[in-house]
Amino acid sequence: MIVEKNKVVSISYAATDDSGNVVDSNFDFEPLEYLHGHGNILQTLEMELDGLKVDEEKKVTLSAGQAYGDFDPELVFEVSREQFPEGAAGLELGSMVQSSDGMELIVTDIDGEKIVLDGNHPLAGRTLHFSVIVKNIREATSEELSHQHAHKHEHGDGSCGSNCGCSH
Ligand code: ZN
Repeated sequence: MIVEKNKVVSISYAATDDSGNVVDSNFDFEPLEYLHGHGNILQTLEMELDGLKVDEEKKVTLSAGQAYGDFDPELVFEVSREQFPEGAAGLELGSMVQSSDGMELIVTDIDGEKIVLDGNHPLAGRTLHFSVIVKNIREATSEELSHQHAHKHEHGDGSCGSNCGCSH
């Protein structure tokens, strides 16, 4: 069996930046299981995994645009403490807050009454070097195909149940 559309693929991966720092990895955890060919992982990465077999490894370099997007300076803005309805007492560098329209923002600077928020993905603007190992490939269930994502198989019956979290 090879990695191709509509197969459920398990991968272990690590991503490093240009300086060699590991910025994302699941080698210490369970492999990531996803339904191939449905845009559930970064699209360029998904295309590069096409045709691999179990235990095959692939190194893929993604530009910022292919990974988490170019850094957009317009998503960085300054607000005052008064603009936080629940107060800004608990905020510190790296805190996540949500804007009124649901956007995730990271506190990147606190200077007295001024707070700088950044709506870019934490990995925006970075070239990422992925190292991926295919751990398992299996057929998708019809339910997974209709939902267009993989389900966990804790009970071995392939049911969606409470593990899915999707609204189908
Ligand atoms: Zn589902």
